[in-house]
Amino acid sequence: MECEEAWLRLKAGNERFVRGCSLHPHQAKDWRLALAYGHRPFATILGCSDPTAPPELLFDQGFGDLFVIRVAGNVVAPDILGSIQYAGAHLGTRLFVVLGHDGCGAVRAALEEHAGRSTQAGFIASVVHLIRPALQAFAPTDDLLSQLDAAVEANVRWSLRHLLEMPSARKALEQKHVKIVGAVCETRTGVVRFLE
Ligand SMILES: [Zn+2]
Repeated sequence: MECEEAWLRLKAGNERFVRGCSLHPHQAKDWRLALAYGHRPFATILGCSDPTAPPELLFDQGFGDLFVIRVAGNVVAPDILGSIQYAGAHLGTRLFVVLGHDGCGAVRAALEEHAGRSTQAGFIASVVHLIRPALQAFAPTDDLLSQLDAAVEANVRWSLRHLLEMPSARKALEQKHVKIVGAVCETRTGVVRFLE
């Protein structure tokens, strides 16, 4: 599926979900059995692990439709890039979406650390460490909530930047074979806003 067609399919699915008219496609037993013989997901989603932002539901898609990578704060680390590259090279995915969501706890933790209000311990620190560079332009403040929406978007753009820097992605973009976009989900309504 071409990337523009895939993008339209995602947007249409989200509109159905927001209207409460989800079709819940591709969930029948016959369809799932057929997937055993191969599948071609039409989009790859790098989203946050937060339970309020499940891509298959937000985009009203079913089994085999999406290649989904979920990690706190939708951060990009080398193994995440490996999964994304796999989706493009072996599954033929042409559309890649970095999906953040409002109120993201991982981004909030990074903002707190950025403001010197807390320090995360153990492996949580490694997630925060990956988000912190996205927040460089933010003035440390005690009013974290006033910055959270902008920080979520900045973090999506930061992850996008990692994807765009992949040599294979650059080449595919030049040839207009792929589309790589950022988006933010409003969890209260389910509306997914694609970034310009
Ligand atoms: Zn989150």
